[in-house]
Amino acid sequence: MIQQNAIGEISGIIPKERLFLALEDRYSYSYDASFGEYLPDIVIQPQSAGEISELLKIANKYRIPVCPRGSATSLSGGPLPVEGGMVLDMSRFPHKLVIDRENLLAIVSPSVITAEIHRKAEEAGLFYPPDPGSSHVSTIGGNVLENSSGPKGLKYGTTKEYVIGLELVTPQGDIIRTGGKTVKNVTGYDLTRLICGSEGTLGVVTEIILRLIPKPKARKTLVASFPSVIQSGHAITNILASGILPAAMEMMDNACIRAVEAYQPSGLPVDDAALVIVEVDGHPAAVEEEIADCGRICAERGATMVRVARTDSEREDIWKARKLVSPAITRMGPTKISEDATVPRSRIPEMLERLEQIRDKYKLNLVVFGHAGDGNLHPNIITDKRNIEEMRRVEDAVGEIFEAAVSLGGTLSGEHGIGTLKAPYMEMELGKAGLDMMVRIKKAWDPNNIMNPGKMFPKPGQTKVRLLP
Ligand SMILES: Cc1cc2nc3c(=O)[nH]c(=O)nc-3n(C[C@H](O)[C@H](O)[C@H](O)COP(=O)(O)OP(=O)(O)OC[C@H]3O[C@@H](n4cnc5c(N)ncnc54)[C@H](O)[C@@H]3O)c2cc1C
Repeated sequence: MIQQNAIGEISGIIPKERLFLALEDRYSYSYDASFGEYLPDIVIQPQSAGEISELLKIANKYRIPVCPRGSATSLSGGPLPVEGGMVLDMSRFPHKLVIDRENLLAIVSPSVITAEIHRKAEEAGLFYPPDPGSSHVSTIGGNVLENSSGPKGLKYGTTKEYVIGLELVTPQGDIIRTGGKTVKNVTGYDLTRLICGSEGTLGVVTEIILRLIPKPKARKTLVASFPSVIQSGHAITNILASGILPAAMEMMDNACIRAVEAYQPSGLPVDDAALVIVEVDGHPAAVEEEIADCGRICAERGATMVRVARTDSEREDIWKARKLVSPAITRMGPTKISEDATVPRSRIPEMLERLEQIRDKYKLNLVVFGHAGDGNLHPNIITDKRNIEEMRRVEDAVGEIFEAAVSLGGTLSGEHGIGTLKAPYMEMELGKAGLDMMVRIKKAWDPNNIMNPGKMFPKPGQTKVRLLP
């Protein structure tokens, strides 16, 4: 509970129409797109870095947890107020989106929706590649703090590759700038990179400078289906080994294909075990040659169907079907546990095999889709949190998914972040000394641990994911 004195001081800074204390208002901020519900004590919609600075000074004085929140599409519990306290609703922060054509930059406020940046950049003949499946809903602030990516991560990298400057309110309430507008900058430690992917644990971002690139001249997309998931994995690794670097390479298993067709019929082949989408971009002549080569490799690896989109509208239909996977599979059961364990590209077929074994061992409804070209698979377990016995099996299966990814040289998270669910496994990937170094950085930045506590770092003795109270 927040002390009355603190509420009094906050009311002196924030007008009452942007400050919420009523239970029904606070409930709206108690969940995100992941798992679990936690009620905040107070919700605030700040309108300037100055206001946030004052709020963080109060939070430090009264030791109030502060949880920044964008559109709450996090799949790892990032914005959840797990220890109560103050939610800062950054989706209502004033919108700013300036395209600097001369310097190939976009200067944006954290509340801007990612798809809006795509649109404005393309209007100027430019391109902002990171494209999470949630890009029509999620904020760029959330994308930066989760270091999100999406299908185009394969060729173009993740959000952090495009963030070259930030304005940040530190946990002490200082307003600092990191990086800037220059593409080159080696002045001191790279704080910009440290903040990217820090999940709101190091401060509140109030402005972002993004690097843009020229828009590719041509794009071609194909869809291929396979009689087995493992064969689709081999096709993916063979395309990469052939020297072609597609802009995107996605896969979905039969359960995902069927879920999409049941949700919104999209003409996908429902009888095959897996489907792969490949997109190449660049010079028109190279694109024609590369898409033909990708089609040939798929056929050699046993594809039963290879179809190249002939028009922009056919291409858009393929991507629309891919974007429907996440909403479609949520209809398969009341609870969805979404993971994003990632392996080196060459280990994709082995990871797919391990996932099949885990599904059979724990007898769970485990479906797989994802950005397979960069090794970033999304195993999703469709379950029901009211079924205690099944949830115990889910907890063990999730642990084994992480162990499989790390043992194949991969990582706990390729893009969704650690949040609350993966924290117990941090030491497994980083080792004791590696994790300790991160804990020390957090303590130096935020000695009172006010910024988004309960995220990223395991509690003492916590070694396993706990989905049940
Ligand atoms: C259907 C669906 C599809 C998705 N597809 C993808 C995908 O393809 N790739 C991918 O990477 N992710 C994907 N996601 C996950 C999610 O959309 C991303 O993590 C996204 O970046 C979150 O943005 P948000 O605005 O919703 O932020 P939130 O979920 O509100 O917050 C995310 C994190 O950022 C912090 N934060 C937000 N704003 C600020 C700020 N201004 N300052 C400091 N901290 C801040 C929060 O505290 C939290 O830790 C998907 C989610 C859904 C529901």
